[in-house]
Parts: sequence; C-alpha cells; structure tokens
Amino acid sequence: MNIVCIGAHPDDAEWYAGGSMVLWAEKGHNVYAVSVTNGNIGHHEIEPQKLEKIRRAEADESARRGGYTSIVLNYPDGSLMPTLEVRHEIVALLRRFNADVVLTHRPCDYHPDHRACGVLVQDSAFLVTVPHFCPEVPALYQSPFCLYMMDMFQKPTPFTPNFAVDISEVIDRKWELLDAMSSQMYEWLPWLDHQLEQVPKDITDRKKWLRERWDSLFRMPSFYFRPLFENELQSYDKTFEYVEFFEQCEYGRAPSRFEIAELFTLERKISQGII
Ligand SMILES: [Zn+2]
Repeated sequence: MNIVCIGAHPDDAEWYAGGSMVLWAEKGHNVYAVSVTNGNIGHHEIEPQKLEKIRRAEADESARRGGYTSIVLNYPDGSLMPTLEVRHEIVALLRRFNADVVLTHRPCDYHPDHRACGVLVQDSAFLVTVPHFCPEVPALYQSPFCLYMMDMFQKPTPFTPNFAVDISEVIDRKWELLDAMSSQMYEWLPWLDHQLEQVPKDITDRKKWLRERWDSLFRMPSFYFRPLFENELQSYDKTFEYVEFFEQCEYGRAPSRFEIAELFTLERKISQGII
C-alpha cells in the first residue's frame, strides 16, 4: 500500500503516527510523511530562513531512522490556509504517490495550520478522482481510505477512534524519530514550556530526558481510549501500553478487510443499530 501521512508541520506525522509509520514501513508498505508547511517559525532564536533548512534536514533524518520518506512542502509555518493553490498541490501529490491510505489532522484543533491541513485533505479526498481537476496529473481510480490522527479536543465533537495500532514493540524507534528533531524536542518545545534550562547538554542524557518528559503523555491514550475497545481487548494478550489511535474520515472510501488487517492491531466493532 501507499500510505501518506499529511501533517501541518515537520514533526506532526512522527508525533501522532510515528510508531505506526515504522510498523507499516517494516511490513514493506511505501510510507510518506508529508509536512505541508516548512516549519520555519517554530523557534525562539533561529531565524526562519535558517530554521526551514534545519527542519527539512531533521525530517529527513527522522524518516531515515523510521524507514519511510519525508516530504516537506514550502508553505510558511503559521500561515497555512485551505486555498485552491494548496488543494491543487495536495491532490497532485496524492495522485503521484497513488495514495491508498491518507492520514491527517481533524479540522477542529488548536493550531490553525492543523485545521487548514485537515480541511485540505478532506477537500482533496474526492477531487483526486476527478480528471478535470488538476488535469496535469492523471486522476486516481478511487478515493483513498482517509483517517484522522488522534487529538484531545472535545468541541464540536471529540476524537472517537475506530482503529488502534499497538506500537509498544517499536516505542524505542518512536523516541529515535523524535530525537532526530532536536531543534523542536530539545529547544523549541522546552522553551514554550519554560523548561529550556532542564534539557541536558549530553546526547545520551538528553535522550533519557526526552523519554522522561513525554512518556506519560504517550502512555495516556491507551488508558483514555481503552473503554472504547473493551470488547476487542478481551481476546488481546499483548501489552496495549503505547497505542496510536485513528478515526476514519467519512469522506474517503471504505477500507477493505485486507487493509484493516494489515494496518491495525484492533478495530472497534461499532454497533450497527437495530434498523
Ligand atoms: Zn503541528
């Protein structure tokens, strides 16, 4: 399968789906992590022109470690809008990759770039099949299977996962992906949290710090969403400790049984109702 994970910034794919991308790449699928913006304002000191280059290099290194491909588009960070221009670019990109599966943000999210990115992917999900839209790239035979990556926002509707990927076996790989994004993990995010002075200088020490800093956050989803998977977990004998959750976007096509079995650890069987 061709799996395209489209985030707004160079770290979103790794943060929300990094473990799954590693597992899917290990199975032999073509996995692409796309950042629609170039991440050029996400730092308290480094100038945007220089930061853009750093972010591209870090995303490449992360992808090298994870066994997938990184693509960083050139829209400025903090200014992404769901315009026709970007819609054309996303449609062309999904067609060139012959996308079977697409992941993105939900369009209700704290960050305006995340919201715009979610809308852009939603808008592209059907148009990839329309030959006279963006006619320079041949249309796809069918829409991809579209998924939202996890978030904790409650309004207008909370994230409600259909699928879970148990990434416990590859959690060390996920830490490695994030460690490659050092200008974010060891500089920008700690600065935002007023914790910059706590980051160790030594490379080994700071990897340990990274894990200690974020470990509870990465364990949290399995506790939070466990009740939704109660029935499925009765016959599941592994840890379900670190889990990435995904919600199907209704604008894409329905997945096949093969795709569900290949991509996910657990699928939540949703009641069909009585009618
Ligand atoms: Zn982001």
